[in-house]
Amino acid sequence: MSQIVIASHNQGKLREFDAMRLLMSDEFSALKALEFIPITRWAGDPPDETGDSFITNALIKARAAAALSGLPAIADDSGLEVAALGGAPGIFSARYAGINATDQDNNALLLAELAAAPSKNRSAQFVCALVFVRHATDPAPLTAYATWAGEILTAPQGERGFGYDPLFFLPDFGKSAAELPADLKNRISHRAFALAQLLTQLGSHPL
Ligand code: IMP
Repeated sequence: MSQIVIASHNQGKLREFDAMRLLMSDEFSALKALEFIPITRWAGDPPDETGDSFITNALIKARAAAALSGLPAIADDSGLEVAALGGAPGIFSARYAGINATDQDNNALLLAELAAAPSKNRSAQFVCALVFVRHATDPAPLTAYATWAGEILTAPQGERGFGYDPLFFLPDFGKSAAELPADLKNRISHRAFALAQLLTQLGSHPL
């Protein structure tokens, strides 16, 4: 069994990676040979996300996690892009309301910014970039990128998920992402589609 470090300190993401591993293990044989380990087992502060795109930030995190752990690593850089805000908060989603912002702080700021925006368009998408490196200086990282379309509600709904889920409405389901059962979110989300892409590549480029 090969171990792969998941380069995230975000409990919401770590929970989803564990659940997706189980959900997808019949479909992707590569998964049967892999064990996901959270980076939190190793000491060290998360690296500064100095990149200007989801992919570059994911690459920074994947290389840092591989260097710390000595193991192959997968990093997730993700966020919310809101049309009426010109794509904000985008790569700044985790720190939208400040460096130590909570999910509630970020959600409150998003509602305030949208209320003040000239456009009434509430369409938005979640983005997930995943990068896999075999080791810290891997010259050929694998990358995956997926989006999930929805609309921003005017008030939070639902208790599940994390981050902006309570504000992210899915017209096809008539529910927010925080009202979806976890198993459903983990089959249809930006993160689920990006992981499926990455696992397809890992299937043809085994460790
Ligand atoms: P990162 O850890 O720098 O990639 O920040 C990701 C941020 O984007 C999180 O803190 C959330 O605010 C937001 N985000 C990413 N994926 C999701 C999701 O699936 N649901 C809700 N918020 C998400």
